[in-house]
Amino acid sequence: MKDESCRRCGNDLEVNKKCDVCYIPNQMYCHECGYVSDEQIHVQCMISSKNHVSLVN
Ligand SMILES: [Zn+2]
Ligand SMILES: [Zn+2]
Repeated sequence: MKDESCRRCGNDLEVNKKCDVCYIPNQMYCHECGYVSDEQIHVQCMISSKNHVSLVN
């Protein structure tokens, strides 16, 4: 998924934050202009990091 480029200046984005659970980058930033992308929430990771919260189906 190297499709990410800055919306403002078009430069390549760099990893700003990684998921605590799966270590996949979930937020990117542009050190050219300071643009920071939205943080992607991994729902499954959040659930597993909370020790398997049981959800009602
Ligand atoms: Zn930029
Ligand atoms: Zn994750």
